[in-house]
Amino acid sequence: MYIVCSDLEGVYVPEIWINVAKQTGIDELKLTTRDINDYDVLMKRRLGILKQHGLTLQDIQKVIASIKPLSGAPEFIDWLRSQSQLIIVSDTFIEFAEPLLKQIGQPTLLCHHLTTDTKGNIVDYNLRQKDSKRMVTEALQSLNFKVIAIGDSYNDISMLRKAELGILFNPPQNVIDEHKDLKVVKSYDELKEIISQTISNE
Ligand SMILES: [Mg+2]
Repeated sequence: MYIVCSDLEGVYVPEIWINVAKQTGIDELKLTTRDINDYDVLMKRRLGILKQHGLTLQDIQKVIASIKPLSGAPEFIDWLRSQSQLIIVSDTFIEFAEPLLKQIGQPTLLCHHLTTDTKGNIVDYNLRQKDSKRMVTEALQSLNFKVIAIGDSYNDISMLRKAELGILFNPPQNVIDEHKDLKVVKSYDELKEIISQTISNE
């Protein structure tokens, strides 16, 4: 039996940090793993910037609540959940994702979490586990599921490669160029077609 593991940002919702940067006017928050490839260095830098500007978790959540899902995403998720179980596997934090999950029908989400102090300042971040996307895929396979994995960037590659079917959704060109053997789709309609075929051919 197939189950779908899917990334969140870049697949159903826009990049959260980039939108927070745009809406707060703090340009430095636009840095991503493509600029600083050490995630720990990047996150510590981001938390330092928030502290410097006095931004609390509540401030960030307000900004995130105004972010809209990508066009067609809620409808696609509804369709997907009528065909298969869906687990969103993300490198975001539960506190950031909550306002967005409400807009896409509250799918199951496995991700990381933040530590805040009594004033709501974000003082640390906690990874649920290392290489969590691949680990979730492996765990589901150990439960006798076949995994269809969907993602758009570098942090999805190990999950896509571990899955029975790995699909890159609207990835940047550099990701396509470095992973030419992976299937690439550019729209929810194309995704629907591949997923329907895969499930019905089982
Ligand atoms: Mg992504």
